[in-house]
Amino acid sequence: MGAYDTYSGTAPCPVCGDWHWLGGQTTFFEPHFDLPPRWFRAGEPQPLQFTPDDLLREPWSGSWIRIRTPRTPEILHLLPDIDGMYPCACGTPLAEVLRFRLRPDGADAGTATLVHVGLYHALADPRALDVDAADGEQVVPWRGNLEAFEQGLRELAASPPDVRAARLHAALTAHFQKLEAARNATDGFTFVTAPMPCEACGDTRERTHLTHFTGPDGRAPFLRDGWTGGTLRPGTRVEGDFGWLDEDVDRGIYVRLRHPVPADGFTIIGARENVGCRCGAGATSVVMRFARDPGGVTFTGASLRVVRGRADVADGDFAPGSHGSRDFPNGFPQPATRDEAVQSLLRTNWRCP
Ligand SMILES: [Zn+2]
Ligand SMILES: [Zn+2]
Repeated sequence: MGAYDTYSGTAPCPVCGDWHWLGGQTTFFEPHFDLPPRWFRAGEPQPLQFTPDDLLREPWSGSWIRIRTPRTPEILHLLPDIDGMYPCACGTPLAEVLRFRLRPDGADAGTATLVHVGLYHALADPRALDVDAADGEQVVPWRGNLEAFEQGLRELAASPPDVRAARLHAALTAHFQKLEAARNATDGFTFVTAPMPCEACGDTRERTHLTHFTGPDGRAPFLRDGWTGGTLRPGTRVEGDFGWLDEDVDRGIYVRLRHPVPADGFTIIGARENVGCRCGAGATSVVMRFARDPGGVTFTGASLRVVRGRADVADGDFAPGSHGSRDFPNGFPQPATRDEAVQSLLRTNWRCP
């Protein structure tokens, strides 16, 4: 037993209110091989094998860098995993800050408790930089070997707090610039961009969704042979032979949820994403609709849906299922029946019991 800690929590985007389901490894608290892995969730104390004072050591725990002078040894703000940060659908670059309460004695002696997960504008909100420690891997450039990297960490640790905060801001800026550049190089991928109403509350915003219609791993293109990627907007028509829609086959990683599909079009229900409408309905999936005519198909629109069970996918014709597609077996056992395939997708795509 023993591994790096994981955490999970939810927080709203500070600008548009979309909910984000967050989680990952903290990598901050050293692994303890005599204890089960710690899973930090709000309000649940987890055991530590060191005191809060130990956390003031510099450098601490691998590549972490202390940013500000500690205010109290009992409250700790961490900025984890800069490489995993992403912008909200509204465009806000999001920085995730974890707040822990540390207890050296008393009822929760020797524990750390995740008490809050906050999302802040990574480049404009001072709270993104007002943290005790940050993931240093992106703050200190790699210099070719571990010794030189650790020397860089020590040098930065010895500099004044405002210099450390400025370096952190520069690292956040560089990360979001890198993401922006990657987003503009969409070769080979297929996106849909559309006004997407939340099916729970009707709130409608333009959103962009990355599909699995094409990808770099050699999957058959979902739309038709020769489709190499691009952005579909309401009204975008793809000409070609869609005769495969009439046969009981899967296509790429998309699993057929019913057969036959309607003659005049089809509906695809994406997997649950780690984001949901500000109304609080829950984490949503993107539902995409296509119309069909004899010469091709037309993307007609999309919406956001919370899938909780079978009834919520009853109008769906296809769903991505990397383990369940007959066209892309991937080495996994194939479902024996369509019913089994749908059950499997409910557990994996939509995490329904
Ligand atoms: Zn937002
Ligand atoms: Zn809503």
